[in-house]
Amino acid sequence: MKYRAPRGTRDILPEECRKWHFLEEKIREVSWKYGYGEIRVPIFDSTEVFARSVGEDTDIVSKEMYTFTDRGERSLTLRPEGTASVVRAYLENNLNAGPGPVKLYYYGPMFRYDRPQAGRYRQFYQYGVECFGSGHPAADAEVIKLTLDLLGMLGLEDVTLQINSVGCSECRPVYRRKLKEVLEHNREKLCRDCTGRLESSPMRIMDCKEEHCREATVNAPVMVDHLCPECSAHYAEVKEILNRLGIVGEENPRLVRGLDYYTRTAFEFVSTELGAQDSIGGGGRYDNLVEHMGGPTVPAVGVALGIERLLLSMDKTFLQQKKAPAVFVAVSSDDQLPTGFQAADIARKAGCTVEVELMGRSLKAQMKYAGKKGFDYVLITGQEEETRGIVTLRDMNTGQQEELPVSRLESDLQSVVKQTRNRKEEG
Ligand SMILES: [Zn+2]
Ligand SMILES: [Zn+2]
Repeated sequence: MKYRAPRGTRDILPEECRKWHFLEEKIREVSWKYGYGEIRVPIFDSTEVFARSVGEDTDIVSKEMYTFTDRGERSLTLRPEGTASVVRAYLENNLNAGPGPVKLYYYGPMFRYDRPQAGRYRQFYQYGVECFGSGHPAADAEVIKLTLDLLGMLGLEDVTLQINSVGCSECRPVYRRKLKEVLEHNREKLCRDCTGRLESSPMRIMDCKEEHCREATVNAPVMVDHLCPECSAHYAEVKEILNRLGIVGEENPRLVRGLDYYTRTAFEFVSTELGAQDSIGGGGRYDNLVEHMGGPTVPAVGVALGIERLLLSMDKTFLQQKKAPAVFVAVSSDDQLPTGFQAADIARKAGCTVEVELMGRSLKAQMKYAGKKGFDYVLITGQEEETRGIVTLRDMNTGQQEELPVSRLESDLQSVVKQTRNRKEEG
């Protein structure tokens, strides 16, 4: 084999794509139900958009971006996440001009030069929603609720919501100084990354998975104990709304979002379905980002979910979906092809997925093929059938055959579709 897909990428073949389509359908459905409109931003944007929005000193920007110079000497980057471009587009298209909130969702591939591992790719997919214009706790609660609805539609039950508040530009700097002071005393315990973070973003040390760093932060102050009255009230109300909706979150005072623009509510969805704890995605409020990107002050809240993680956990639901019957149209000879194509059209109209014989095989070979490929039904058209104005329908599961008059084929097939769906549902 001469060529292989680049490291960290893969081909998604038709059988697996069916699973993706199912997931994509649910994403569209839940977004639509909550009044979110899709926005499609370019796969690449000015490097500056990501550097500014995600933050120069984050791993994403400093180590993981696919950045290149185009023939016009512009520095461009394959998007490593969705929010930055959406904010850029929100401002560029004056979406802030009308009344709020502006509710957008995106879906598509993102790119990060990360070490590939199971379920982790350099081209990976994300779904995200962004709600612009509301600083109200109801917006935070709704974004969380939408996500849980989607996870429910996908059959993901063992998911824990973790929630925290990371404060605002008033209370966070004060807390950060305190935290820094405490951590300075434990400097020698910190890992190399965290020693660097001590200056730029000490809060991220709270989130470090290294054991020594965990030890160093055991008694460190946490943000929730240092919130200003406004942030404190906001956090309390988010939790109150969720509570009344029956959504139980787990408070995690160590939860900090990796990106600089987050304010107040931060949350994460952790799945225990695959054994180990595994983050499916997360989000939070980012009241300072739009302004930081050169726009007016616009509060916002959003969430992003990793599609590959979702796919790993949703097999059960996917297999239970109602499937349209697959029909193979067998023709006894090439003369029968026009009749075969017509019968196929009728079957498609009735709601089946249909293939017609394209290989010029014998009828016997066609039946063998249809069995092997797992078709539910075979429609047989032959000289004799044509003269009598019928086609033969063979149920591949039971082996039973019946003759259907061509004039009634569509309505007859419709009831067959119905029966098959019910049967598949029960099975
Ligand atoms: Zn505050
Ligand atoms: Zn560390």
